[in-house]
Amino acid sequence: MKGQMMDVPLTITEIMRHADRINGETEVVSVAYDNPRHRYTLSDAFKRTRKLANALKSLGIKKGDRIATLAWNDYRHLELYYAISCSGSVLHTINPRLFPEQIEYIINHAEDGIVFFDPLFAPLIEGLQAKCPSVKHFIALCDAAHLPETSIPELMDYESFIESHNDSFDWPQLAEDDASSLCYTSGTTGHPKGVLYSHRSTVLHSLASALPDAFSLSVHDTVMPIVPMFHVNGWGLAYSAPMTGTKLVLPGPKMADGETLTDLINNEEVTMTAGVPVVWLTLLEHLKQSDTQVPSLSRIIVGGSACPELLIQEYDELFDVSVHHAWGMTEMSPLGTFNQMTPKIAALSEQEQMAYKLKQGRIVFGVDMRIEDWQGEAVEWDGHQFGAVKVRGPWVASGYYKQGESIDSNGYFDTGDVASIDPHGYMLITDRSKDVIKSGGEWISSIELENIAVGHPDIKEAAVIGVPHKKWGERPLLIAVTRDVDVSAEELLAHFEGKVAKFCMPDAVEFIKELPHTATGKLSKKDLREQFASYVLG
Ligand code: AMP
Repeated sequence: MKGQMMDVPLTITEIMRHADRINGETEVVSVAYDNPRHRYTLSDAFKRTRKLANALKSLGIKKGDRIATLAWNDYRHLELYYAISCSGSVLHTINPRLFPEQIEYIINHAEDGIVFFDPLFAPLIEGLQAKCPSVKHFIALCDAAHLPETSIPELMDYESFIESHNDSFDWPQLAEDDASSLCYTSGTTGHPKGVLYSHRSTVLHSLASALPDAFSLSVHDTVMPIVPMFHVNGWGLAYSAPMTGTKLVLPGPKMADGETLTDLINNEEVTMTAGVPVVWLTLLEHLKQSDTQVPSLSRIIVGGSACPELLIQEYDELFDVSVHHAWGMTEMSPLGTFNQMTPKIAALSEQEQMAYKLKQGRIVFGVDMRIEDWQGEAVEWDGHQFGAVKVRGPWVASGYYKQGESIDSNGYFDTGDVASIDPHGYMLITDRSKDVIKSGGEWISSIELENIAVGHPDIKEAAVIGVPHKKWGERPLLIAVTRDVDVSAEELLAHFEGKVAKFCMPDAVEFIKELPHTATGKLSKKDLREQFASYVLG
């Protein structure tokens, strides 16, 4: 027997319709290229979104066409989010921090027809425009007065582009599985791969991420996403905030500027923010140096990489702000887990609580997770055994754009992360699959060993890689950078005694002057592996 409920498609157009009617008075405050404080309401935003949709139509944009943005978080980017997806075309957000060759590859692979860009990226576009034949129009996100001096042919400014167009638009009826947006992951090897979101996946992700034990959004909140809108749809906040009527504060190109962020938090009474750890370290430094409090701010969501303990501790002690760890990835829209204390954990001592706060959190409803050992068997959720993290769910990618499916025979997507889950349901990322050391059928976490190494007072930075071993297949090699003092390998290895099982202890230590890093500042184990390619243990 079938249920008798209406089959209404879950589309971003419905988020927009609801936000316009019900939350039209909600404010959006932005730092834009041509305006240090732009302020309007969601109702104003959607009026301009309709003008933009008409302007796009006038260029002959059709359903399914890809339209790219290279832009910071601001109000024009928000209008593009809705006008492009709700008119049936695909919003392709591009990370301007990628290498120009990667951006060129991405634009050509997606066959973008239009590129909207922040004027700050004009030099980048100048270098690319002749190499991207699918792009018929470049439009700068500013008004006519701020159009940059450039060699980009027939460059238009956004304001002139939408100005003459009508502010009513008949939005097409879309199917919920129509593609809505596209974001490329920048893997460390090979070309970037495109993740193609649907209207349905976006709506369901917005609903789940807004829940009280996740982002907990409401009309009483003001959210400032520091996570860029070009990275996994800004963790979906550009959808979930208008859906819930949460005021949005968009810091434009000032995302790494502690002073602007503090001003925005205090003047706009920001209650909640989201971003990668390095942003919060920058802000922390600024707040401490300027001796400024942020009374409205109650919580910070940290994701993208593991959150240092110091961050959680100092925001709590000095500013009464709680820091919540979240985990996810481009292929997961992105949210997979969120760290919220359950009553049982909240009843523990502060020190015991910290061990949980440092974990990546509990699985959000909608994500089904399996942790598999190296033989593909599900491991027990005992907080000790770890394995490959596999996920499935309505906002998890089933494959990559223009490539086949990439799910296993059970229908799960392999995240490439390695983790354990404890009996309370808290997941702890212990490694990336490609970095974990596979030693005689056991997995050894490189991250756990690195954390122990940097706990030694004379060690500045450390990395652990697996090197070939005749008997065990692979064994851990510790590569360390000292704080300009002499430390012997024996002394450093003695520091591991009692902290890890015997078979996990590094077999050898090498000291080097500095560790290689990627363009985004992450430790490059790929380069280290090449550097130590001829190293053999045993
Ligand atoms: P991206 O697709 O660029 O967002 O990168 C996703 C990857 O970042 C994940 O697969 C993890 O390896 C890593 N990551 C994301 N969030 C966290 C976190 N809270 N702690 C540790 N690693 C994380």
